[in-house]
This record gives sequence, C-alpha cells and structure tokens, in this order.
Amino acid sequence: MLTKLKIKNHEIDLPIFCPDATRGVVRSLTSKELEEEKVDGVIVNTWHLHLRPGEEKIAQFGGIAKLMDYHGLIISDSGGFQVFSLFQKDPEYGRITDEGLVTYTGKTKQHKVLFTPENSIQMQFALGSDIMICLDDFTPPNADEKRIKQSVARTVAWAKRCKVEFEKQCLERGLTAATRPHLYGVIQGHLDKAARKDCAEQLLKIGFDGYGLGGWLFNEDGTLNLDICAYNASLTPDNLPRYALGVGKGVDVEKLYRMGYTIFDCVLPTRDARHGRLYNDDGYLYIDKKIYELDEKPLSANCDCQTCRRYSRAYLHHLFKIGDSAFYRHATCHNLRFYTRLCERLRPEKE
Ligand SMILES: [Zn+2]
Repeated sequence: MLTKLKIKNHEIDLPIFCPDATRGVVRSLTSKELEEEKVDGVIVNTWHLHLRPGEEKIAQFGGIAKLMDYHGLIISDSGGFQVFSLFQKDPEYGRITDEGLVTYTGKTKQHKVLFTPENSIQMQFALGSDIMICLDDFTPPNADEKRIKQSVARTVAWAKRCKVEFEKQCLERGLTAATRPHLYGVIQGHLDKAARKDCAEQLLKIGFDGYGLGGWLFNEDGTLNLDICAYNASLTPDNLPRYALGVGKGVDVEKLYRMGYTIFDCVLPTRDARHGRLYNDDGYLYIDKKIYELDEKPLSANCDCQTCRRYSRAYLHHLFKIGDSAFYRHATCHNLRFYTRLCERLRPEKE
C-alpha cells in the first residue's frame, strides 16, 4: 500500500480526504480552519474558477494556493464533469465532440466556447495546482455498449492530448521532476470490466503519475458497486496513487482504502454539515431534533475538532434553528474532522 505522496514541496501521509473547494473556498470555512481540522488537501474546480474570477487573474496573483493562503495540497478537477452535468440538465448548454466540449453561454446561448483537453491543462497550470486531472468523457449512467466504447476511446484520446500539453507546459516553465505538478489519468468504462481494462491499459501506455476511478459506479439500488471498484484498482500498479474521484461515504472510504485507493474527495461531509446531518461513531445525528435542545454533550465524545472541544449539541441546535452562519462553520469543521480522523486511523502506524 502506498503510504506517502511527494509532490513539489508537499510530503503527505496517505490516505487523504480532500473536501470540495469548488470556487476556491470550502464553503463557510477559512483556510486556517481547514488546517486546524487537519485537512491535507482540497479539490478546486477548473471550470468554475475559469468562469469566476478567471484563471488568468489567479495566475497573475500567483496561483490558487496563494489566493486562498492555503498550505495543503491543491488538486484541480478538469472541469469536464461539471460541463457534462450542465449538458445533461439542458442540452442547449452544448455538446460533447471528439475535439472537446462545445458550450454555449450568454443569455441567448449565442456565445460558443470550445473547452478542450489542451485548454483544461493550460487552465490547471494557471491555477498552479499540485495534482491535475485529465479531461475525460464521463460515461452517462444509462450508457449502452456503444456509448461506453465511445467514452473509453475519447477518454484515451483526450488523455494523450493532455499529456502532450502537460509536457509542453513543464518544458516552457522550466519545471523538473522535482518541481513539476503531477498529472492523473481517469479510467472510464462504466460497469463493464472489459471496457475498464481496455481504458486502463491504454492510459498506462501513455503513463501518468496516478490513476482516477471515474465514471458510473453505482448499482441499481444506488449503492456503490464494490466489485467494479476493486477490479478497477487491480488494473493499475500499487506504487502509483489511486484516486477515487467523488466517492466518499465514510463506510466506502474505508472499503476503498482496503482495495488500494488512497485519495478521496466528496461533497457529502460539507453538504451534510450545512443540512444539519452531523457524523459520530454511531452514524450520524440530525441536530434539528428536539431531543438536542438541552443536550450538554459534544457532537461526538471522541472528536477533537474545534466544535466538539467547546460547544454543546444544545448550542448547535439553537444556531441551526436560527440559521446563523456560525452553525455552518462549526458543523463543517466537525464533519471534516470526522473524515480526517478516519484517514488518520487508516494510516499504517509509524515506527
Ligand atoms: Zn467534532
């Protein structure tokens, strides 16, 4: 099992959980709070940061880490999944072609923008991220065999173009093996093992610093298809990181770690926090319930987060009821610490 990740000036113990800082902020938290809750890294979204404030402004400022004044690892998503989700919601937003993602923006969708693998890598360099993700063609949940094949073929073709652009950028910037960011490929193939194997083999030939578990991974009842996740892990070598993109229920993190995945990100802990769903060792509690009105206990007896060290469930119940922004902060700190404690427990004991 891979136990350490070394990138640029970072040396991080694995596994890690990276919350979403989509627009350059983990909603309602300061970078100092992230560090206090031992959040080793965050994932920002290339597409959203491109829309606002724009990657050129971020580059002028010296990168997203400097803008956020955050000292942990910065992973940037390619932005492909967000654009794909837009298309799913409303086909008027654009379409996917072999060249890239064609989007139509503006009030009357009159402004055509082509978002390519090359653009995505250039933007990620402008952000100055530590781990960059190749633009991939996400396999839709209802994909048939033909669409799965197309998704794998495009993902591989785009990964090749991403790698070429990545090397060009490294050369232009005078980056060496020690100072360059890392680039990860994403394995698609839906729930089809042969397609995943084909995708992984072709990506391995191109050669990446790590490999992402991508695409649709869920059974009909909405649970994670663990057989496919384990199979996907078996396709890449143990000495390179495996990144479970966007998969991160607490129980799943532990199972995926045992399969060999060591990097996780998921919207759940921060989103659940804002909805008053707070984690503890028995599962979770809904803080809006009347039973917590006078409860003096912390959210979790075993948690050392800033919230649990100081505040009662009764106070958090009150803050939730009045809708104060302090609630979001306290709740998010707690749920993130739940995940960082989980990662700490999974790490092999240090000698
Ligand atoms: Zn706590």
